[in-house]
Amino acid sequence: MKDLKDYVRTIPDFPEKGIMFRDITSVLQDPDGFHLAIETMQNMVADLDFDVVLGAESRGFIFSAPIAYNRGKALVPVRKKGKLPCETIEVEYDLEYGKAVLELHKDAIKPGQKVLLVDDLMATGGTIEAMIKLVEKLGGEVAGVAVLMELKGLNGRERIKNYRLDAAISYE
Ligand code: 5GP
Repeated sequence: MKDLKDYVRTIPDFPEKGIMFRDITSVLQDPDGFHLAIETMQNMVADLDFDVVLGAESRGFIFSAPIAYNRGKALVPVRKKGKLPCETIEVEYDLEYGKAVLELHKDAIKPGQKVLLVDDLMATGGTIEAMIKLVEKLGGEVAGVAVLMELKGLNGRERIKNYRLDAAISYE
């Protein structure tokens, strides 16, 4: 049987020179790969208690939705600035070059709700850290973070060390 890692395609020099891009489309386009990815992520958080699953735009949506659906929990999208129609809160965070803003609907999380954060990949941890800030601004409690892939060399884990992080695949 193939390992989950075997389904991930690595593209050198994308989107720019020197970057090894971990491509999830090769996981998704194989039904066995997609199934294994969702099963693995669900098993990682099987012991976790949460009310809401928060998915990061846009690849995070793909993995957050099945987890929320299968666990019978709410699904909440975190979006890039200007996409959400109702009243929002926002957090600015650093990208490698420049800044970006993530938004969340104000009524998406109620104070005291436990939230599972989901994305496809954690690199520096900047995106996850911004999501944590959004959840906590609304009085939510971060129950844990689940990612399909973690790039260990960028020390994202250290950046969010006060929170539980589960990764299905790790790259050194
Ligand atoms: P961070 O904020 O942790 O530095 O970067 C993580 C974000 O960038 C995630 O939302 C993720 O989708 C995207 N990202 C960065 N590098 C890669 C990569 O190699 N593969 C994929 N699939 N996403 C990446």
